[in-house]
Amino acid sequence: MKICIYRGTNEIGGNCIELASGKTRILLDAGIPLISMEQKDVPISEYKVPVVGLYENETPTVNAIFITHCHPDHYGLLPLVNKKIPVYMSKTLHKILTKIQPLLPGGFDISHLDIRDIDADESVKIGNITITARAVDHAPSAYAYEIDDGKKRIVYTGDIRFHSNQRMKSWALARKSKNPDYLIMEGTRLSRPELTEKYPTEESVSRGITDLIKDSGKVTFITMSSQNMDRVVSVIKACNRAKKTFVIDPYTASLFDIYHELSPKFPLLKDLDNVRIYFGMSDGIVERMKKSGLFYKHKSKKITAKEIAQNPDRYLIKNNLNLTRYLLNNVVKDYDFIYSMWHGYLTRQHTWDKFKNHITEIHTSGHAAIKDLQKFVKQIDAKNIIPIHTECKNDYEKIFGVKNVIVLNDNEQKRI
Ligand SMILES: [Zn+2]
Ligand SMILES: [Zn+2]
Repeated sequence: MKICIYRGTNEIGGNCIELASGKTRILLDAGIPLISMEQKDVPISEYKVPVVGLYENETPTVNAIFITHCHPDHYGLLPLVNKKIPVYMSKTLHKILTKIQPLLPGGFDISHLDIRDIDADESVKIGNITITARAVDHAPSAYAYEIDDGKKRIVYTGDIRFHSNQRMKSWALARKSKNPDYLIMEGTRLSRPELTEKYPTEESVSRGITDLIKDSGKVTFITMSSQNMDRVVSVIKACNRAKKTFVIDPYTASLFDIYHELSPKFPLLKDLDNVRIYFGMSDGIVERMKKSGLFYKHKSKKITAKEIAQNPDRYLIKNNLNLTRYLLNNVVKDYDFIYSMWHGYLTRQHTWDKFKNHITEIHTSGHAAIKDLQKFVKQIDAKNIIPIHTECKNDYEKIFGVKNVIVLNDNEQKRI
């Protein structure tokens, strides 16, 4: 087998790995760098990696692509992929990428692709390589993959953590795919232990939000990712406990429908009495949502700025700039701001400076804490470890107390 990591050996995100056995070539993830989130005007073609036979204007020679989860640093190159190459992913991710992502600014479009659903623990044979999907804790329906060509067995973690209520999935990966020849493993938090202790679990995040909003007597805004289903659940729980109403936008409401399909335990929006929808979104999204028929689907849940202005302290508002600006300029004197995303975005974007004195960070990482990864490495007991999605590839030996780390550079071909 041959491996080439085109991107991700020395940075967090943008993963794209090729594994080849005989004439069969597969890709694991096709991501764009995280920096792309802050460079919205840069076309994705700028982030291409040099995979031969992957892109639209080439003869397709990659046999299949397997995507781990719903973050662009793992799927962002897909719009450029040749339509003849089948792309495997979970059903949930398929829905998110084809129904929800196109609504966002930039008009993400992968309608040309041959997308095939793969279930957790299902195997697919591509040439002489068998690929098995393994569910892990990280994002809705996130997968790791196990790859076997009959001679070598490889496990790729994708992004992984061990501290939400889905954590048993990640520990099951260590059991089900035990003793692989190679473990391609993410190490996001080896360089970023921030906020680890204060909110170590998703439940502690929910409690933290509850405590902040409960008796504050103020309106609270929250910046969070609608695609973080665990966080959405935590916020709904916090609102229940604190008797507040959670105000979301129609885009988030559409994701609620998908979350319900994914897990019947996730309530139907119509049954959530304390969730309301504010419809004032930016024009581009409104137009696309209207076209897709999703915009008015939940119109009975509508709330207006005027209604909120009458009793602002009753609401936790998903940060929606129109509404935030209106309330801050015209209605409220004091407020709280919960920042519930990765700390790095907050420090890098100066638009946050003016809210500085109001912000409380309440977040737990989507990625494994060092001690959990150490335990995982022991349990899965791989013959070799290949670092990815990390800024600390040279520290793996020391951190994990092992000698069998294969450190690669981007675009380096290696026979394994
Ligand atoms: Zn990632
Ligand atoms: Zn991720």
